[in-house]
Amino acid sequence: MLGNVEQQLAGFPPLVFAGEARKLKRTLAKVAAGEAFLLQGGDCAESFAEHSADNIRDFFRLFLQMAVVLTFAGGSPVVKVGRSAGQFAKPRSSDTETVDGVELPSYRGDIINDIAFTPEARIPDPRRQVEAYRQSAATLNLIRAFATGGYANLENAHRWMLGFVKDSPQSSRYSEIAERITESIEFMRAIGIDPETHPEMRSTDFYTSHEALLLGYEQSMTRVDSTTGDWYATSGHMLWIGDRTRQPDHAHVEYMRGIKNPIGLKCGPSMTADGLLRLIEQLNPEDEAGRLTLICRFGADKVFDNLPALVRAVKAEGRTVVWSCDPMHGNTVKAGSGYKTRPFERIMSEVRDFFAVHQAEGTHAGGIHLEMTGKNVTECTGGARALTDADLSDRYHTYCDPRLNAEQALEIAFLTSELIKK
Ligand code: PEP
Ligand code: MN
Repeated sequence: MLGNVEQQLAGFPPLVFAGEARKLKRTLAKVAAGEAFLLQGGDCAESFAEHSADNIRDFFRLFLQMAVVLTFAGGSPVVKVGRSAGQFAKPRSSDTETVDGVELPSYRGDIINDIAFTPEARIPDPRRQVEAYRQSAATLNLIRAFATGGYANLENAHRWMLGFVKDSPQSSRYSEIAERITESIEFMRAIGIDPETHPEMRSTDFYTSHEALLLGYEQSMTRVDSTTGDWYATSGHMLWIGDRTRQPDHAHVEYMRGIKNPIGLKCGPSMTADGLLRLIEQLNPEDEAGRLTLICRFGADKVFDNLPALVRAVKAEGRTVVWSCDPMHGNTVKAGSGYKTRPFERIMSEVRDFFAVHQAEGTHAGGIHLEMTGKNVTECTGGARALTDADLSDRYHTYCDPRLNAEQALEIAFLTSELIKK
């Protein structure tokens, strides 16, 4: 059955094209050079049950808002990369899950098994890979329509505000920016520039990314590009290697070495300077700019202990990388109520320390990597509305790790924009 499914996938059309992956790589090269900022974000795990037009639209418009906020502050382009249209497979710290004395295999993402806590649900089913492929295609189709079909037109900036965010502190700050954009467009019109004739006003480039964990799926979606003869992953524009699968002599690194897409590498507290240099040599031997993004995720109290040594080593070797900050994965705590959560202050503190280290080392804090949703969930505590542990049970919907809700994500964008400005 697994073999049949992989064969079937290998015959399906690619989800993304090599030329798009190359374009993203060129744009990330600008991030590495300090001329652009990377915003990467989305669900920890996409799910089959939550696949709907509303969810995709809410996520997309939140993303556009955040990008506008960061562009305004940085005065430079924001590269938009969703954790979406393929983010289905999850590494787990434990093979089993025990509830009330019953032990079952862990949930590994909708592409593998089902989240329901029954023995049947937890049996891996290869057909789920076909469903994940189809969902990715449909998600990407809608995202492409939004990105190029008029929705992302900057003249719509004031309409991207999500209903439930409207009465939040973020709302008036955002409206101010939207107002300034509208004025700028009116000014352009007044002096005879027609925004309609400028594609960068009417549309945007939006890329997809996910962790390349399930190698059988990835391999089936890996194709030779007819233009260059090179191998490309066509399951998403950018793939990353997780903090648990980055052993230099293991299969994930080997797979990623062979594809030409831009790739990410998660760097947690156990990453050493030597280990990192070895991986850089394996993954980007020619030092191609834009090829490698280092996604750092140490935990708020560990950034100063871990990041400087890595930054110095990479700098000393003259390697070109994008430095991005994932302030989510090192800051997961268990609330008294039993929910896994992430305190907003710790998330923001990791972002601040990340910027401070780069400022001190003379390197570029190139981007942020967030787990977030356009929905009004209650999964991370804190933020302007000061969500508490007791609020978590209200709308805790994630399939894996806790996500920032739309308001919290926009708040992170505003706070980060202040750091970019400096
Ligand atoms: C993730 O990004 O959801 C993830 C599992 O990250 P990490 O590999 O950094 O733990
Ligand atoms: Mn996660």
